[in-house]
Amino acid sequence: MGDRRPFGYDLHTHTTASDGTLSPAEVVRHVWAAGLAGVGITDHDTMGGVKAAEEEGQRLGIQVIPGIEISTEYEGREVHILGYYCSSDSASLAGVLEELRAARKQRLERIVENLRGAGLDISFDQLVIAIGNEAVGRPHIARALVKLGFASSVQEAFEKYLLRGRPGYVPRHKMDPLTAIRCIREAGGVPVLAHPGLVGDDSIITRLVDAGLMGLEVWYPEHTPEQTAHYESMAESLGLIATGGSDFHGKGEREAELGSVRVPEEFVIRLAEAGSLRLEN
Ligand code: AMP
Ligand code: ZN
Ligand code: FE
Ligand code: FE
Repeated sequence: MGDRRPFGYDLHTHTTASDGTLSPAEVVRHVWAAGLAGVGITDHDTMGGVKAAEEEGQRLGIQVIPGIEISTEYEGREVHILGYYCSSDSASLAGVLEELRAARKQRLERIVENLRGAGLDISFDQLVIAIGNEAVGRPHIARALVKLGFASSVQEAFEKYLLRGRPGYVPRHKMDPLTAIRCIREAGGVPVLAHPGLVGDDSIITRLVDAGLMGLEVWYPEHTPEQTAHYESMAESLGLIATGGSDFHGKGEREAELGSVRVPEEFVIRLAEAGSLRLEN
């Protein structure tokens, strides 16, 4: 791509459908305000936010790319698979997502039990009522802990209570990335490996390609310039579509701001073509 800098599309964001703090419509309004051409809505384990985002996108002239992020584990490592342009009619994908969301809820119940066991006076009901999201996660607990005065920030709540080795830690449902890739492909979607720099083992990538992986999230706020260059050339040599995004979860959370990553349109066109959908301009 010569000396062209990424701009235009932020392909990795979360909304209140999962663990973001802004509603899908609010995210799209922020996308508009950030001067982006489009946004990928990639909530954890649900596409429940896509429709509302699309409606607001139509109103504001923002291209909304439907997506999903599935957390998986491979050889003890966290491997997150993004899926773009999945059909919401796919029974096998919908079944898997439903199972993952049910497991998330059970996990949250166990986290609350553990925290109560550690002496924190919190109740699940209090949290569940406050939550109401389709896909729940540790950030919901972290925010509740901040609100109740057990931590001064979401980051601190994670560090004190929710990270591995801490009193509230409960392992997530262990899904295999190969299964996630297969389900996304079966749903007509485009599977992309999220933030490869955080995975910590590049040899996994070629194995995921053999399983049907079609893209690599090259541009990511936590990637160093060296990692970005490395994954850019890796995407090219493996024939993967380069993507990128901020992993926005809302204002004031630890993730980067919307538009801090701007993917050029040419890559979004490749993504859309791979999903056999057309970019409407
Ligand atoms: P879960 O899916 O429930 O395991 O929660 C994972 C989510 O928690 C990630 O998508 C991040 O948004 C957030 N997260 C993970 N680690 C941290 C951390 N150290 N501080 C703040 N947020 C975190
Ligand atoms: Zn998240
Ligand atoms: Fe992720
Ligand atoms: Fe994410």
